[in-house]
Amino acid sequence: MPLDSSQLDSVKQWIESHSPILNCSVCGGNEWAIQGDLAFSLLVEPKDGSINRNKGYPMVALNCKNCAHAIFFNAIQMGIMGRH
Ligand SMILES: [Zn+2]
Repeated sequence: MPLDSSQLDSVKQWIESHSPILNCSVCGGNEWAIQGDLAFSLLVEPKDGSINRNKGYPMVALNCKNCAHAIFFNAIQMGIMGRH
C-alpha cells in the first residue's frame, strides 16, 4: 500500500527539519523524488551472515532526480509508522 498524502507530508516535513541541505553524494544534485511505497531492509544474522527474511526495517526511499541514486530513511524513526 503506498504512503497516503498525510504520510508523504510527514516525510517532507521530517526531511526539511532534519536534513534541510540534502545533496546527492553521487552527483551533488539536490532534487529528490519521494517514492510512494515503503521499501524494506532485510536483516543479516551477525553470526553466520545468513539473511533473515522475517525481520527488517521499513524504509522511506528517496531517489535523486538527476542520477537516480537512492537513499533510505528508517520509517519508524521518522514516525511514518509504528513498530509491528
Ligand atoms: Zn544524484
